[in-house]
Amino acid sequence: MLRTVILAASRSPQVERLVATAPFTRDLVRRFVAGAKTDDALRATRELVDDGLAVTLDNLGEDTVTPEQATATRDEYVGLLRRLAEAGLTPAAEVSVKLSALGQMFDEQLAYDNARAICAAAEEAGTTVTLDMEDHTTTDSTLDILAKLRKDHPSTGAVLQAYLRRTESDCRELATAGSRVRLCKGAYKEPESVAYQSAREVDKSYVRCMNILMSGDGYPMLATHDPRLIAIGEDRARWFDRGPERFEFQMLYGIRPEEQARLAGEGYTVRTYLPYGEDWYGYLMRRLAERPANLMFFGRAVLSKK
Ligand SMILES: Cc1cc2nc3c(=O)[nH]c(=O)nc-3n(C[C@H](O)[C@H](O)[C@H](O)COP(=O)(O)OP(=O)(O)OC[C@H]3O[C@@H](n4cnc5c(N)ncnc54)[C@H](O)[C@@H]3O)c2cc1C
Repeated sequence: MLRTVILAASRSPQVERLVATAPFTRDLVRRFVAGAKTDDALRATRELVDDGLAVTLDNLGEDTVTPEQATATRDEYVGLLRRLAEAGLTPAAEVSVKLSALGQMFDEQLAYDNARAICAAAEEAGTTVTLDMEDHTTTDSTLDILAKLRKDHPSTGAVLQAYLRRTESDCRELATAGSRVRLCKGAYKEPESVAYQSAREVDKSYVRCMNILMSGDGYPMLATHDPRLIAIGEDRARWFDRGPERFEFQMLYGIRPEEQARLAGEGYTVRTYLPYGEDWYGYLMRRLAERPANLMFFGRAVLSKK
């Protein structure tokens, strides 16, 4: 119920204005988002890298509907990659890209061309790109574009979502040498016909998919905050003798930072997904909806400013 209310608020321009202009918002946003500008992203990346974490940067954007918006996103990533390299932050920092932000919804060829330019810039900067996965209507298109990008840029990473019924089969396809695959539970509301609906089914699917990836030849990236799945990941790493250069854990910026530090301290590669950009509102509200307990933090921020 609370989740539905928060998700509704995430689509309301009135609530957005209220949240964006409220004096207490800054602390809340800063917990989950590096900031609005590229400089903020570089500063937060430096701090994380100094703490022994790897980073993947996400330029936040919602609803790309024109070629100009898509091109501006491409240019932002290309500029970001150049600055990461200049700051000596690659290869520890890579980028995560949503094809929808590059034009996938109205022109697949344009999205591919833009993604290709970002992959080329990443290669020049000495790092990699991962293609975020969006709702199930885009899965085939995203995997097709991934396959084309990998011809010239084989390190381009894929994301597979354990809640989709098809994902075990996709894991088998992608668990090949050099193939970087992020496994997450999945963040969109999907119909029963394509996705498991209960948390238990999704978790069981995650473990099956993890087994395929960890026993395969690729480079698994286990993206979850779930303590049970992390423990199973640690177990599989021992079982399949995967050291820190052969798989990694990934978590979102601001979520379970102590656990990120613990795993890094134990010698695992841990990558923090670091969002930045002007369009932080939708992202922030989705994080709050995922875990309404985060509203406590919101509440404390409000009270402490009174
Ligand atoms: C690096 C990364 C990249 C992602 N990329 C994508 C993508 O491309 N496409 C996509 O659809 N989704 C993506 N996601 C989102 C993902 O699909 C899930 O929606 C999100 O990660 C929540 O799932 P979870 O595995 O953490 O488990 P959940 O079921 O949300 O949480 C499981 C348990 O984790 C612990 N936990 C979770 N949050 C917190 C918290 N704030 N504080 C303390 N404990 C907590 C709790 O014990 C909770 O019970 C990504 C997630 C990560 C971490």
